[in-house]
Amino acid sequence: MFEMVKLPYPIEALSPYMPKETMEFHYGKHYKTYVDTLNKLVEGTEFASMPLEEIIRRTYGKAEYQAIFNNAGQAWNHQFFWTSMSPEGGRPSGRFLEKVVAQYGSYDKFKEELKNAALTQFGSGWAWVVEDGNELKIMKTANADTPVARGIKPLLCIDVWEHAYYLDFQNRRADYVESFLEHLARWPE
Ligand code: MN
Repeated sequence: MFEMVKLPYPIEALSPYMPKETMEFHYGKHYKTYVDTLNKLVEGTEFASMPLEEIIRRTYGKAEYQAIFNNAGQAWNHQFFWTSMSPEGGRPSGRFLEKVVAQYGSYDKFKEELKNAALTQFGSGWAWVVEDGNELKIMKTANADTPVARGIKPLLCIDVWEHAYYLDFQNRRADYVESFLEHLARWPE
């Protein structure tokens, strides 16, 4: 059985940028439903004993496994999203910042590109910063799709499904993404 990962901070710790009530819905209801549904779908199948990443890779792009992929992808994406935030989050520093500046010229240029990916993901999905070889890349995925399905290593993700921000920002995805990047983003060392 898959279990929900524990949050790496108290549920109210991201307040006021991501209030306790938002987390109670997002972690306690949306994320829980993905994990519960995945458990029901894989019970008694070959997938029941596989790690989440393996289920994602094996079901990716296969119509007959779409429901399993969707719930496995969303379970993985959310557990990565929880670790993409921190009460001490915000702008990067140290070697990661140096890497950003070397590749993008400045953090602000990198941030604009990442915000653009988050805002142009039409409908539900995710914005990502990934490591591809020795390069940083920015990408976006739709619905439950995830870089993990293609063997790409994510460094940070932003959930841009409406359920991630509607309670606090309603339709204003740009304001949510700006707040996330200024106050919550947990960058690699
Ligand atoms: Mn979500």
